[in-house]
Amino acid sequence: MSDCIFCDIVAGTAPSRQVYADDDVIAFLDIRPVKPGHTLVIPRNHSRGLRDLAPADGEKMFAVGQKVAIAMRTALDVDGVNLVVNDGRAAMQTVFHTHLHVIPRHRGDKLSFAKSLVVRRDPHPDATAAKLRRALDQS
Ligand code: AMP
Ligand code: ZN
Repeated sequence: MSDCIFCDIVAGTAPSRQVYADDDVIAFLDIRPVKPGHTLVIPRNHSRGLRDLAPADGEKMFAVGQKVAIAMRTALDVDGVNLVVNDGRAAMQTVFHTHLHVIPRHRGDKLSFAKSLVVRRDPHPDATAAKLRRALDQS
């Protein structure tokens, strides 16, 4: 185990519900999803944040975030997606391995979205991951 939980996920020494992987980037479900399908995209290389993220890794992370966002629209029947990077404690970064949040949104979900910021739970995460994985495999 390293002192970075996301490096452990990359190494396979910590569990994750992975939905996508290539040589440079992996994507897996957030353990406390704001919405079912909330995915984190991370470069395999460790960086704490935007200051030490290699631009090439940032490009690859974004490209996979785009792929995941598009797959979500069909696999999870979502109407929109927020792509978010929290950089620094002041921006509410809590895991210091650079990551891109891909958060599904639905028309008119303003109120339920606010509530889900507190609850943050998917009752069927394995089914959600399977749907997303299938769509990404086909993309
Ligand atoms: P941030 O606040 O931008 O640093 O987001 C970190 C995210 O990582 C949070 O949404 C957490 O729920 C999520 N997280 C923390 N540990 C894990 C884990 N072991 N597997 C999946 N997601 C995690
Ligand atoms: Zn790391």
